[in-house]
Amino acid sequence: MIRADFALRHAGQLATMMPRPDDPLGRIKDGALAAHGGRVVWIGDDRDLESQVTLDGDLLDAAGACVIPGLVDAHTHPVFAGSRADEFAERVSGVTYHAQQSGERGIARTVRATREADVSALTELAAARANRFLANGTTTIEAKTGYGLDLDHEAKSLEVIRQLAEQTRLRVIPTFLGAHTVPPGVDRRAYVRSVIDEMLPAFRPWAVFCDAWCEASAFTAAEVRAVLGRAKELGYAIRVHAAQLAPGEGPDIAAELGASSADHLEFATPSQIAALAKAGTVAVLCPGANFTTHGPRPPIEAMREAKLAIAIASDLNPGTSNSESLPLAMSLACVQWGMTPAEVLTGATVHAAHSLKLDGLVGCLRRGSYADCVVVDAESPEAIPYYVGVNRVLQTVAGGALWEPS
Ligand SMILES: [Zn+2]
Repeated sequence: MIRADFALRHAGQLATMMPRPDDPLGRIKDGALAAHGGRVVWIGDDRDLESQVTLDGDLLDAAGACVIPGLVDAHTHPVFAGSRADEFAERVSGVTYHAQQSGERGIARTVRATREADVSALTELAAARANRFLANGTTTIEAKTGYGLDLDHEAKSLEVIRQLAEQTRLRVIPTFLGAHTVPPGVDRRAYVRSVIDEMLPAFRPWAVFCDAWCEASAFTAAEVRAVLGRAKELGYAIRVHAAQLAPGEGPDIAAELGASSADHLEFATPSQIAALAKAGTVAVLCPGANFTTHGPRPPIEAMREAKLAIAIASDLNPGTSNSESLPLAMSLACVQWGMTPAEVLTGATVHAAHSLKLDGLVGCLRRGSYADCVVVDAESPEAIPYYVGVNRVLQTVAGGALWEPS
């Protein structure tokens, strides 16, 4: 008998996301799983649960609803203060995102508000976001800094991410994004030097990943190569905001450095996509930001052809995608871009986990994985994106225990 301290039974369809030849979602009909110490110790047919598992702990009855792995969000900016709702209203009336990135508007405005907030205020804001992630079925996020933009305030943002991981049930993977934009009133050369010489070495113990935004409005290809090249030498794994608003070298740099992810990619060329696939980089697509900025459709066919792994992320941020909902991002990727429900589900689980170097631990359900799963009121896992903009999550289980909103 297998000892467990948590079990879930009667999952009408339990999507393990461990592909089989007959089913990419590896589903078990009327499935069950058991966990011990936060890890899955048994998974199989419900009818075998009682004969194979001794349970000393909570039993959750899914009552025929769908169960999927806890969703994995591979691109979020959860550490910020302030609101840009008025800029949203302006954009709806025709002002472009680009036009808002000057003076004290856009990212610069969020930087000022974030600098003015202390660790506890920022952690409180981020924890409220964590609750919304968990309520919408996400149990793991990648969390970027990038609204501090100097040594002290980026350190503060990393401390907020550390406290977020400690105080909430969300798994939080920290990314240093000092190269988000040049902060207002600072010489850009001096800023890039500060990122390379001061921040990167200082933050290495705190961040798993280093990210940079390669875009005309942010950093040049030469600057991004310098920052991420040094980050790689120091042992960071690499992510790149690449070819979001215009064509550029971001995808090339991601491929050259063997980045874990290249994100956005609306303007990536077929040869860049082939290079990313060859490098084993994951394409992290952000349908929410694409939707609100009226961006072009990313080259999905070229990605499929190159067998480039595609992840789907919320890109939670105050400027272009103020949403913690991965199911909404999945709906948008299906409706706006013609991705299939199976593709977006794989994108918000297995491929997102791969981009975070958490293969087999999150984004799938199997013996040894974290017991992170979500009970969803849907007739099948593929039906999740069919429910647009409403939360169909009934329960979220994180680390082998039911999560309750706080
Ligand atoms: Zn981003």
